[in-house]
Amino acid sequence: MSGDTKLTCAFLKPDGAPCSAPPMNGSEFCFFHSPTTAERRKQAQVAGGRASRRTLIPTDMPEYNLTSPDDVRKMLRDVANKVLKGELDHRVANGIGYLANQLLRAIEAGEIAQRLKQIEQALRTK
Ligand SMILES: [Zn+2]
Repeated sequence: MSGDTKLTCAFLKPDGAPCSAPPMNGSEFCFFHSPTTAERRKQAQVAGGRASRRTLIPTDMPEYNLTSPDDVRKMLRDVANKVLKGELDHRVANGIGYLANQLLRAIEAGEIAQRLKQIEQALRTK
């Protein structure tokens, strides 16, 4: 035991920032950066890759309208349920989550622009 046990992983990211994950017991690296778990990690990735190819995109997803926050919420709920049931790759779900977030922001921006227009018109007709 060295005695100077660090609270975070010793790995430095390409930009020089340290990895913020907690290190594993008896190691200065976290699971993702420890050389001793590299082989296990590779096997896990191979297994994950196999599983994801099998369940990458479900064929029974309905087409969503996605024009209101409620539409987006409904889709996200369906996506989350599919991930929990193991019917959808979580990486696909992550991508959908990212797009849904962008979509919500765009919808919100559209609503704000619409309200602003109404306020401007109201001020002009005064
Ligand atoms: Zn790490």
